[in-house]
Amino acid sequence: QFEQSEALKRLPEQFFASLVQKVQRLKDQGHDVINLGQGNPDLPTPEHIVEDLKQSAGIPEYHKYSPFRGQPFLKQAIADFYKREYGVEIDPEQEVAILAGAKTGLVEISQCLLNSGDTALLPDPGYPDYMSGIALADAEPAFMPLKAENDFLPDYSEISAENLDKAKLMFLNYPNNPTAGTATEEFFQETIDVAGQHNICVVHDFAYGAIGFDGKKPLSFLQFKGAKDVGVEMYTLSKTYNMAGWRVAFAVGNPSVIESLNLIQDHLYVSLFSAIQQAAEKALSSDQRAVEQLVETYENRRNVFIEKLKSIGWNLGAPKGTFFCWLAVPEGYTSQQFSDLLLEKAHVAVAAGNGFGEQGEGYVRVGLLDSEERLAEAAERIGKLGLFG
Ligand code: PLP
Repeated sequence: QFEQSEALKRLPEQFFASLVQKVQRLKDQGHDVINLGQGNPDLPTPEHIVEDLKQSAGIPEYHKYSPFRGQPFLKQAIADFYKREYGVEIDPEQEVAILAGAKTGLVEISQCLLNSGDTALLPDPGYPDYMSGIALADAEPAFMPLKAENDFLPDYSEISAENLDKAKLMFLNYPNNPTAGTATEEFFQETIDVAGQHNICVVHDFAYGAIGFDGKKPLSFLQFKGAKDVGVEMYTLSKTYNMAGWRVAFAVGNPSVIESLNLIQDHLYVSLFSAIQQAAEKALSSDQRAVEQLVETYENRRNVFIEKLKSIGWNLGAPKGTFFCWLAVPEGYTSQQFSDLLLEKAHVAVAAGNGFGEQGEGYVRVGLLDSEERLAEAAERIGKLGLFG
């Protein structure tokens, strides 16, 4: 009965909603659906982190409001994590903002830096929430195509001079959702140059920062000279430690951007439950063997799945990171038609690529988010449709 604000009306449609509904309908009819559509990690949070939360939850001091801008011990752990993992020096007081999930930070950053009518650059295909923040801020998106022939990196020489001059903010994300592309040193260096020349703030979404295959650790944007002058990196614990439901992430980098993120949070949610902050500190600073195992699990799943797909005639390059495969659909189908077909006929749910942007047309995104056996079965079911070769 009460009308939504114009800002809310501008929000893009939540494109997973219809997939979730379709999957549920088939499940209700008794079908065994293999759901590889959403990016929801299927593995549990490592036990030592859960134990830490249980203990921390019993500390009465933690039941009060947490300090504004987060617990100092977590900020210090974040600085130590960046030093240990990437050799990057971070000032825990000036260069860290604790976030209630990266999704929140990625939406907030547009509120922080964009005015109505401003321009923001974002990848196409890309993670949908960059657009949500831009829409709420009443700013204009300028899409940067990610193409297979350019290893899913934007080609800055193809972006119009006008858009580069107007843009205030640029979103990047490597390892990339949905294409599974990874960044190179040259690319990040070029990004810093371009951003510096045009006074653009770079927000590098490092959600899959831990998930690199074939022994290659993904690069942090902050490893490169001048990065802190032009932007921030957002890091979530959702994927690295299977803590998606906990809603804990952080931004590190440029102090003026960090100040803005902290300011908006002072007015929104103060800070996270201290027990969660303590368990997050545990996750970042304790033994990282569980992370190694997680990467191994995804890499094994990738190998099994890609091998099986090859055997049914669907030939693809192996993704180098993330837990997604970005697969070209056979000729004669749109992304939506093909994903509907897989769901209806094989009971395998995948995400249609066009949901990630115009350039996603012609692809589907498959999550490596079930066991090796189930992934192999998914490939077999798809093979039985006889669509390849
Ligand atoms: N960024 C990317 C690229 C993602 O794929 C996701 C989760 O799917 C997120 C951010 C959200 O992270 P969080 O769980 O911290 O909100």
